[in-house]
Amino acid sequence: MCEPAAMGYRADENSEFLAKEARMSQATAAPEEMNVYQNAEARFEEAAKKLGLEQGVYKYLKYPDKEVTMYIPVGMDNGTLEVFTGYRVLHSTVRGPGKGGIRFAPDVSLDEVRALAAWMTWKCAVVDIPFGGAKGGVICDPRKMSRGELERLTRRYTAELTSWLGPERDVPAPDVGTNEQTMAWVMDTYSMHVGMATTAVVTGKPIELGGSRGRKEATGRGVMICVDQAIEKLKMKKEGCRTVIQGFGNVGSMAADLMQKAGYKIIGLADIGGGLYNENGFDIPKVIDWVTNQKKPLQDFPGGGQKMSAKDVLFQPCEVLIPAAIENQITEKNAADVRAKILCEGANGPTTWQADAILDSKGVFTVPDILGNAGGVTVSYFEWVQDRQGFFWRESEVNERLMDIMVNAFDVVVKYAETHKVNNRIAAYMVAIDRVAKALKMRGIYA
Ligand code: NAD
Repeated sequence: MCEPAAMGYRADENSEFLAKEARMSQATAAPEEMNVYQNAEARFEEAAKKLGLEQGVYKYLKYPDKEVTMYIPVGMDNGTLEVFTGYRVLHSTVRGPGKGGIRFAPDVSLDEVRALAAWMTWKCAVVDIPFGGAKGGVICDPRKMSRGELERLTRRYTAELTSWLGPERDVPAPDVGTNEQTMAWVMDTYSMHVGMATTAVVTGKPIELGGSRGRKEATGRGVMICVDQAIEKLKMKKEGCRTVIQGFGNVGSMAADLMQKAGYKIIGLADIGGGLYNENGFDIPKVIDWVTNQKKPLQDFPGGGQKMSAKDVLFQPCEVLIPAAIENQITEKNAADVRAKILCEGANGPTTWQADAILDSKGVFTVPDILGNAGGVTVSYFEWVQDRQGFFWRESEVNERLMDIMVNAFDVVVKYAETHKVNNRIAAYMVAIDRVAKALKMRGIYA
């Protein structure tokens, strides 16, 4: 079910454009802390200005290609009918099909999905893979829903989007609150609608259904590769390097596991239930077993440690800080309390625009989200390639190719920052926007 007002394609100097501009500038009326959309906008504006992006291209890239709101009826286990609100935003297909996860969470909003869709465009461009950007979300609390309810919600959401999705159109993946099983349901529903098994319509699937080896670890591995590069750049040693990770889901737990195996000392952990700090370091496989297999609260982990809030863990002394949970954790109010040398963003948007300048003034080396967590979409790209070829790679091949792409992207961004005297975040945006703008100019505008 599409909301007609939200379906408009880009316009230029006409009434629709002006109406949209007015709507969106209401959102940029600078409250105390900006929301994710405003943060994404502020970085885009700053990078576009520094690039000297011409006005028409600026307008084209500022707004999504299209967005849809859906009202999704789901029969609940208790016999009642519930209606959930869902979104899909296709930000850009300039460099390839849309690519971006589906988020199931109670606080999903259209603004958030818009921001995340734009970030996907820039992220795919930073690592130079042939995708545009998209994102989806449904307002729901998956922890309070049964497997059957989640399956029906996923299938109806996918059915509403049949004409939008496709290996050459828009390719979803998991995000917060969704997982391999969700992707299997998306793949099956889409395949039933188009009348053929179409594995390449989603990534992050189970390996048995055309998923890629190494995808589950990919975002965490990409985080580690970026931290390794930063350590080398700053001439530090990774052995015993004190590391704090907020978020112990896919990204946080995989980063913790891989990094501990590589020699880092993980001294701080947190999830939605709170934080835990142990200066002697945690035994990560045991924490994973406690949280993931035994389904126990992280804070009750019996390996010792001081309990604190999930926020406070971010401000403990450490060399490496990895926010890998949710948005807006490091803000204007608390950025001065960060005591890390390297900040590598595993989550999307954990740092606000106002916090950037404070971190810069403290000399924190920041690996921005659109680079730091790009390992996930990079291996999603490998999954899409493997599905389309029907030929699957060894895990070592996946990891080797991921390493090549991440190291190259890190070098490009850091060199760009040094050459143009901007911070790493703005450098990453400038590299990305420039690549998308060049592709756009080569294609030309079909008007
Ligand atoms: P997930 O659902 O697997 O895990 C999220 C973790 O964050 C959980 O441990 C949860 O308890 C914790 N959390 C939630 N709210 C919190 C709070 N207020 N304080 C502290 N912890 C909190 O999600 P994920 O896939 O690991 O994604 C985490 C972040 O990384 C998101 O921002 C997501 O968009 C981003 N990301 C994920 C991937 C991926 O491949 N999974 C790729 C790129 C970016």
